[in-house]
Amino acid sequence: MRKKIVAGNWKMNTLPAEGIELINGIISKLEEVPSDVQLIIAPPFTHLALANEQIKDTPITLSAQNCADQAKGAYTGEVSAAMVKATGASYVILGHSERREYYGENSEILNRKMAQAFENGLKPIYCVGEKLEEREAEKHFEVVGGQIKEVLFNLTPEQMANVVVAYEPVWAIGTGKTATSDQAQEIHAFIRKTLSDKFGELAQEITILYGGSCKPSNAPELFAQEDIDGGLIGGAALKAEDFIGIAKSY
Ligand code: PEP
Repeated sequence: MRKKIVAGNWKMNTLPAEGIELINGIISKLEEVPSDVQLIIAPPFTHLALANEQIKDTPITLSAQNCADQAKGAYTGEVSAAMVKATGASYVILGHSERREYYGENSEILNRKMAQAFENGLKPIYCVGEKLEEREAEKHFEVVGGQIKEVLFNLTPEQMANVVVAYEPVWAIGTGKTATSDQAQEIHAFIRKTLSDKFGELAQEITILYGGSCKPSNAPELFAQEDIDGGLIGGAALKAEDFIGIAKSY
């Protein structure tokens, strides 16, 4: 049985007080969420410790949105995986398309970030996905396959067992365009097959999330697909009602 996860990536949104309000809203609706669906929230670094305090008696799990590729030292402005871990977070999102696009994160950097995450006991939520021009040129399998092989193929099976993969077509992130459930299922199955080439049966246990304009109205159809094990949610994670509405879709 694969773990079902609905994770909220808050990105660079909310001040601490707004974050507290959002978490209170989520907590107030927790009983609507099926008990086998794990909720993860990824607030900005600045509210991680605060959020951890607020969720400590709930089943909600905490994630950071990023971590540094170095352990410590003269890296002004960076936040290490050890620092993230010390806030109480247990996951870290790595390889989000916004980080790849705006901050030049490539596989070399992501391999180092992965190593930092594992050294500090954080579970990576590793994002992959193609841009619109790559989809139009029918290169999406090649692009996503490359992102998987260049980073995840370097892991041991023990490490891989602790990774959550998120497929997020860049053309669907924050655009209101969602991949159709068939498009999403096709590439999720491809990701699982690619992982099985390297990790064998373990691939059947890996949670693969869909991300990209996921909302309560389209989540049921997406989550009904065989290889879609939940969602990484951006915009809709900023409203407790929508976030919970998506988690209820199972
Ligand atoms: C994301 O950036 O992880 C994401 C899925 O965003 P949105 O839901 O807003 O498309």
